[in-house]
Parts: sequence; structure tokens; C-alpha cells
Amino acid sequence: MPIATVNPATGETLETFQPLDRDALEVRLARAEAAFRDYRTTGFEHRAELLRRAADVMDAYQDQLARTVTTEMGKPLAQAKAETAKCAKALRWYADHGAALIADELPGEGDVADSGATAAYVRYRPLGPVLAVMPWNFPLWQVIRFAAPALMAGNVGLLKHASNVPRTALALEELFHRAGAPEGVFQTLLIGTDAVGDVIRDDRVVAVTLTGSEGAGRAVAAAAGDALKKTVMELGGSDPFVVLPSADLTAAVRTAVRARTQNNGQSCIAAKRFIVHSDVYPRFAVEFADAMSALRVGDPMDAETEIGPLATRQGRDDLAALVADALAHGATAEAGGLHSGGPELSDVSGGWYYPPTVLTNITPEMRIHHEEAFGPVATLYRVNSLDEAIALANDSPYGLSSNVWTTEPAEQERCVRDIEAGGVFFNGMTASHPALPFGGVKRSGYGRELNAHGIREFCNVTTVWLG
Ligand code: NDP
Repeated sequence: MPIATVNPATGETLETFQPLDRDALEVRLARAEAAFRDYRTTGFEHRAELLRRAADVMDAYQDQLARTVTTEMGKPLAQAKAETAKCAKALRWYADHGAALIADELPGEGDVADSGATAAYVRYRPLGPVLAVMPWNFPLWQVIRFAAPALMAGNVGLLKHASNVPRTALALEELFHRAGAPEGVFQTLLIGTDAVGDVIRDDRVVAVTLTGSEGAGRAVAAAAGDALKKTVMELGGSDPFVVLPSADLTAAVRTAVRARTQNNGQSCIAAKRFIVHSDVYPRFAVEFADAMSALRVGDPMDAETEIGPLATRQGRDDLAALVADALAHGATAEAGGLHSGGPELSDVSGGWYYPPTVLTNITPEMRIHHEEAFGPVATLYRVNSLDEAIALANDSPYGLSSNVWTTEPAEQERCVRDIEAGGVFFNGMTASHPALPFGGVKRSGYGRELNAHGIREFCNVTTVWLG
């Protein structure tokens, strides 16, 4: 994929970039190593101040950053602004809490004596330069979610961003520069996927975190495994959104629409499979399809727009093919439902738009039953019991998060026990927050971001024993 800014609302190529050559890459890797030597010795308060200044820069340049994001990947401008605000919040959160999350840990006195020590403790030490391979869908947030804890822990960051968001990638490097980060503490590497393996194998790079597709995850985890380097994998999801009879149906429908279509439907934690109890199915189905049809699709820079274009032509075509496959196998489009080859697919102003779509009569032969729909397409299922709902929720190779609408404590407890996912959100939609761990099971990946778990992923958990 060429490294380029291509406006998904028009299909126009605005700017192309030359990938770093071998020498330029070497300069940056050497800089990261040198930066780590000093940065690792800085105190928590020093690092916290850096994160606070980065948050201030994020706020100061909110409009500019948001416009860059919207231009490169097409999310509505208001959502891009909200993303910058969320980044600033996470930077401040780790500035405020990071030190406590990785403070020295003392075992119980009895255990210390039992180990033969006069004293013992655990110190969370930084590891070194960490490579972050990141996607375009939340091009600021995915990076800050990694960088805030990594820098707070004393690591330094190397960003290989998605090839369609180079201006955002460079803006992130600039953000840390303006915040006063020493040279080399956070660098963007404008490189293609072909160069990632060499960076992972480089002795100066100690670990890798990736957010993206399963294919990218496999390639990067394999290279890192071969080099015996730690990885965190945050991959795709096909989260269930279960609605049971006790649900507040009006709120459930409203949230279902948002959970499926925020970020133009391109979120790993978007609810994608809607599993509704037959007692409430008829009303939910009608209101959900109506609300999805009513969404305003259009220019993402327009304040009235609720759904912009998909980020790439390939992504739009993949989604269309998924819907076409479902329709060919007997699915019904209750809303939307454009499919590849159809006359309606002609681009709106050359952009890669796709209408909010609701599909029913889904069967396991359809690809969409098992695959992630990365765009505003919902599959709607009818079930007759909680058992059936949980079985269907788990009938997916993914296990990122899940949403369940019920006010019954016993049903909630069953879901917490039995749903195979990294999160169970009741009477709401999945959202990440710095204080809560984020990540999945099954083919959604492994490891956790955010919270104490996130900052400890890239630490050397060091045992200190005094005789
Ligand atoms: P990718 O997984 O291809 O891209 C994510 C990042 O990985 C990018 O930086 C990409 O670089 C890089 N990458 C891709 N392949 C390799 C490789 N073989 N070796 C090293 N790095 C690699 O996402 P796409 O943009 O192609 O989206 C496709 C699918 O990915 C979506 O349909 C969705 O399922 C999933 N996805 C999930 C996201 C999530 O938040 N969990 C976010 C985005 C996508 P480059 O851009 O240069 O290819």
C-alpha cells in the first residue's frame, strides 16, 4: 500500500510520501536507543509533566488534528474532535495515576522472611524502544492508548502507522516534540509493511504492540515470536449486542444504532451482531431498521453528517462483498443493503460511501455470520432464551467485548460467567476508558491495554531480594 493521504470523501489523492530508506531508518533506530538510555533514568514526575504538556498540545491543536484525521480517514469531524479530547484525557490520566500503577510492590512480611530475605520488593522497570503498529480507524487514540502508558513507564515509542494516515502519524510525532519530549522518545517511522520485519528483528527494538486485522497480527506476532520479543495483539471483533425482555427498549435501540455506526461502523469494539429475545424482537427490529435508515450519510466535514465514507475503497468493496454474499444466500436487507455490482454502488462524489444496513435471516453458511463487518452493517438474530443468546454470542472466532441489555442480576451473572469476551457491558455499549483494561480473547488477540494491566505489559517486572 503506498503511503499517501487520499480523501475517502472524494477519492482524491492529496499527498504521497516516500518511505524511509535504510539509512534514514537506521538514524531513527539509533536515536531511539540513545533516547532510552537517558529517558529510562527520569523520574515519574518528569514523565508525568511530559504527558500533561502533550495533553495541552492536543487540546490546543484540536481543530487542526481533527481535520487531518477526517481528511485522511473520513470520520465525521465532531467524532474526530471527540477523539482528540479522549486522547488528552488518557494522557492526563496516566500522568496522574501512572506512578501508583507501577510503584514498587512489597510482598507480605511473612513471605519475605519465608524467601530468606531481610527485604524484597518488585520494581517495574522500562524495557526500551517499543514498536507500535497501528491502524487508521482511531488514528490518534490507538497511538495515544499505547504511548501514554509506555512513556510513563520510561519506554520510548516507535510508530509504524497505517499507510493511509501519514499526516496524522507525523502530527503525533510533532505533538510530542512540541510537548518537549527529548529527541527520539517518540518517533514516527514512515515505512511500509515490508520493512516491519526488519524493525522487529533489530536488537534495539524490545517489544511490539499491534492493533489491526488478524492477518497483520499473525505476521507481526510471528516475526516477534521468532525474535523472542513480547507482543500485545489487539485484533478484530464481532461483538454481540444481546437484548433480553427486561431491557429498556427505547434506550437499547438508540444505543444499538450508535454502537454499530460510530466511526462510520469501523471500530473493533462496535456491536456487530444483534441478538434479540423473541419477546421484544418485533419492536426492536422495526425501530432499529428505521433508525439505521434515518441516519444522515454524507460529507464528514459537514456538521449534520452522522455517517461519512469508509476509509478505503478496499474496505468499502470488502464490506459490499460480505453483504452480497449474505443476500445471495437468503439474507434480507431490512435497511440499506447495497452490494457489489449493484447499480446503486456508484460513488457519491467519488467517495467510498456505504449505507447503514440491517440484515436478517442470517445463517451459518453466510460469511458475515463468522467474519467481521468493518462498516455500518448489522446482522440481526432472533432467539428464544438466554441460553440460546449466549450460545450465539459465543459462536464467533472473535472475543473482544460484548453488550447485554438486561436488568436481571441472575442473567447478568450468567453472562459474566459464560460470554467468551474480554468485556461484558450491561445496558450500554462498549467503550474504552483509561481506568479499565481493554483487550480480547480468541482471535481478537491477547494482552491488555489501558489500566494497570496496560502499563505493566511493557515493563521488566524485576524482583529485588536483599539477604
Ligand atoms: P491492517 O491490519 O492491514 O492494518 C493495521 C496496521 O498493520 C497498519 O499499520 C498496517 O500497515 C499494518 N500491517 C498490515 N499488514 C501487515 C504485515 N503483514 N506486517 C506488518 N504490518 C502490517 O488493517 P486494514 O487497514 O487492512 O483493515 C482491514 C481489517 O483490519 C478490517 O476490516 C478490520 O477487520 C481490521 N481492523 C481492526 C482494527 C481494530 O481496531 N481492531 C482497526 C483497523 C482494522 P499498512 O497500512 O501499511 O498496510
